Amino acid sequence: MVESAAQRYARISTAERPADTRVMMRRAIVLGASMAGLMAARVLSDHADEVLVIERDDSADSALPRPGVPQGTQVHALLPAGQAQLDRWFPGFTAEVVAAGAVDPPPTGVQTFVNGIRRPASPRETLGQALVSTRPFLESQVRRRTLEIGNIKLVHGRADGLDFTGDRVTAVRYHPTGEDGIVTEVADLVVDATGRSSRLSDWLGAAGWPRPALTRMPIKLNYATALFKRDPAVCDVWVSVAQTQPSSGQTARMGGVLAVEDDRWLVLVAGYADDRPSRDVEEFRTRCREDFPPAFGQIADRGELVGEVITYHQADSRRRDYDRLERFPAGLIVAGDAVASFNPIYGQGMTSATLHASCLSAYLRSGPSLDEPAREYFEQVRVVVDAAWQVSTFADLELPHVNGPFPRGYRLVKWFSDLIFQAAAHDNRLNDQFNRVTTMLDHPTALARPLTLLRALRRTYLPVG
Ligand SMILES: Cc1cc2nc3c(=O)[nH]c(=O)nc-3n(C[C@H](O)[C@H](O)[C@H](O)COP(=O)(O)OP(=O)(O)OC[C@H]3O[C@@H](n4cnc5c(N)ncnc54)[C@H](O)[C@@H]3O)c2cc1C
Repeated sequence: MVESAAQRYARISTAERPADTRVMMRRAIVLGASMAGLMAARVLSDHADEVLVIERDDSADSALPRPGVPQGTQVHALLPAGQAQLDRWFPGFTAEVVAAGAVDPPPTGVQTFVNGIRRPASPRETLGQALVSTRPFLESQVRRRTLEIGNIKLVHGRADGLDFTGDRVTAVRYHPTGEDGIVTEVADLVVDATGRSSRLSDWLGAAGWPRPALTRMPIKLNYATALFKRDPAVCDVWVSVAQTQPSSGQTARMGGVLAVEDDRWLVLVAGYADDRPSRDVEEFRTRCREDFPPAFGQIADRGELVGEVITYHQADSRRRDYDRLERFPAGLIVAGDAVASFNPIYGQGMTSATLHASCLSAYLRSGPSLDEPAREYFEQVRVVVDAAWQVSTFADLELPHVNGPFPRGYRLVKWFSDLIFQAAAHDNRLNDQFNRVTTMLDHPTALARPLTLLRALRRTYLPVG
């Protein structure tokens, strides 16, 4: 029987630890030591004698923002599916990072608002746990656990290209930091995890291989984030997320308050296109007070600002469909934002990186020939990318400045999604199902089951009884 996308997604996102791993290569090389690269290295450590990670950013040893991940200054929420994967690959991870300072918000301290109306929360039994911290802190914890593994080594330098022999990748060329010249390192398998600006397409093109198609959705997202000292006398909220949608007649905006490590709140205000929050503190305070629920204004007006307001612009959501290439070299994997990067307001990027690592594990455990292209890996990654892309781009197609690309069946799927979203406000079961999809625990088709649709129709058109 052919496995459905939802079944595949469930298999990839299992929290069970794999028991059937075996070493099948001498050396794997991972380019980039951020979320995707570290997770890939963890998985590869089960299958290679040695894993070499090459990271260009030599400040990537701390828990502070760093140039290689400039978005790290901004609010980063890890979705429950990502938290579960971190525990899968690093047993005890959640307990350890709580002990190190990550915040485990009480369910009563978490609020979500859409168009000014508070949405019902789902219980922890349904969604699992999701800790809150700054992005550099979380990455530092993942890095610590990864580098504790004996056969993983991190070196600093800028990857500059691949060597191909016949139909496979056989080595990586890189400039070691602080040294002249280029070093060549041979590998049985190379993972590109260099993020959304990955140069892999150029490297492939220069070596005569086809480049993957690049699909872009021009979201033109503008973020501004500031840190405040956390003080319960100012406000007792731990997490507050608020969004206004154009369908409500309001300007599309998004904001977030997150209680993070070291007794701070990270506060975000975001807009689209010409609606650009600036670095001006007074403007930041005004936006918090006027555009978002009371907690935002209370913190911005009465809380103590730590540092400055920092802005960030992301032009597009983008994906590269490696699985569609007719020719692709063996010995090469692509993971994380290098494959697809989404509108960050949906918080899918880091969780996707953890799921790509699980795709890599499933692929390697299936006993593939490393002399063939890793097609099975890319097919699994496609399921994860499609799921995240559907959730984020369907919502973004509503933005006035976004003019596509529209997928087939958009209007019908949008009608059903809106129906379920409205009905979920009054129906706990639908709300839980909806939240499990938006937190990446379930595949979006979980909402297209006939019984779910019927329930949403009944709730909407026969609300009594
Ligand atoms: C404003 C903003 C907010 C976000 N908020 C969230 C959120 O709330 N939740 C969430 O899950 N995701 C969020 N994301 C997305 C998240 O940041 C990314 O999905 C995630 O960082 C992807 O990890 P990655 O390892 O694929 O790439 P990156 O984190 O971009 O890392 C790439 C790494 O490769 C290194 N590198 C690059 N080129 C080379 C080279 N030539 N040689 C060696 N090393 C190289 C870089 O230094 C870096 O370490 C947000 C993104 C943005 C822009």
